[in-house]
Amino acid sequence: MELDTGDRMQPIQDVFPLLQSPKKVFITTHHKPDGDAIGSMLALYHYLTKKGHLVTPVSPSEIPDFLAWMPGTPFVLNYEERPTESVDALTKADLIFCLDFNDFSRTKHMEQALADATQPKILIDHHLFPKPVWDYGVSIPEKSSTCEMVYDFINLCGDNALIDLNMAACLYTGVMTDTGSFKFPITTASVHIMVADLLQRGLDHTRIHEEVYDSWSESRMRFLGYVLIEKMEVFRKYNSALITLSRKDQNLFKSQNGDTEGLVNYPLSISGIRFATLITERSDEVKLSFRSKGDFDVSSFARNYFDGGGHFNASGGRTKTTFIETIAYFKKILSDIHPQ
Ligand code: 5GP
Ligand code: MN
Repeated sequence: MELDTGDRMQPIQDVFPLLQSPKKVFITTHHKPDGDAIGSMLALYHYLTKKGHLVTPVSPSEIPDFLAWMPGTPFVLNYEERPTESVDALTKADLIFCLDFNDFSRTKHMEQALADATQPKILIDHHLFPKPVWDYGVSIPEKSSTCEMVYDFINLCGDNALIDLNMAACLYTGVMTDTGSFKFPITTASVHIMVADLLQRGLDHTRIHEEVYDSWSESRMRFLGYVLIEKMEVFRKYNSALITLSRKDQNLFKSQNGDTEGLVNYPLSISGIRFATLITERSDEVKLSFRSKGDFDVSSFARNYFDGGGHFNASGGRTKTTFIETIAYFKKILSDIHPQ
């Protein structure tokens, strides 16, 4: 099912004629990028560069350490660090690709610059409810990851043979991280067929898994232990669990950017827990991450109560109230809606 994104968005195939001659291409993704965000952006960067385009990948914020090994990261501009160069690249671009998000606000400080840009904007994304602001694109919530969609895009261009080991590593990373290492229901046969294709090219999947998941600092591991003992509440009645992290908690173990990555998933390994929430106090807002198993729709939950969105089983949102108020509000909702 493709979602209605308004009359404006032309199918992605209509972009092909625009890519027949060398173009300046700007690619971006969402704030606080994850494996699928950076993986899809860099895979497309490698592919379009190979096709002779001049490509600038821009991340709205820093690339986390567990993704820094990915081929092409030195070419990525961090908007928060280099806003002038980033906006310059945006202004000069002929085409703008937006990957792994479907609402300009997900790029945070880049929102206005993107909204103001008049060049053709192209969406490749798998989140629910895209905003009707793209000229071309593809939006399929049933897809495992944006990386799978970039792989499809390359194939649709007839360029499967151009996929090299750099692209394969980027594509694999996004599929692996967005499918929970191939365990979520979204892991379709087409995902495994894609991975088989990448493996046949010599992809070193074990190394990638280790780079992403086995690259923790000792303090991150101890931080996890502390969080699970001290900061996790289990609500058996609601088949739910909650982890709350104040600024103070985050500083206790000198937590690095990325150290809270994946924390929200741990409670779901408790038998019977089907809904997990992480509430994190940040300097400018309170961030919430939601994960579920089965038929509790956390995308609607995030949209209805926390100004957010995402996928059916993985979503996020935010509040502008205090950390303490957010926790109280969340608990009130939990008892009101009574997730099963
Ligand atoms: P995370 O919990 O890892 O930050 O996000 C989980 C999923 O929800 C991701 O697919 C992410 O794009 C989406 N998401 C997170 N925060 C927001 C938000 O504030 N708004 C929307 N629309 N989606 C979000
Ligand atoms: Mn994704």
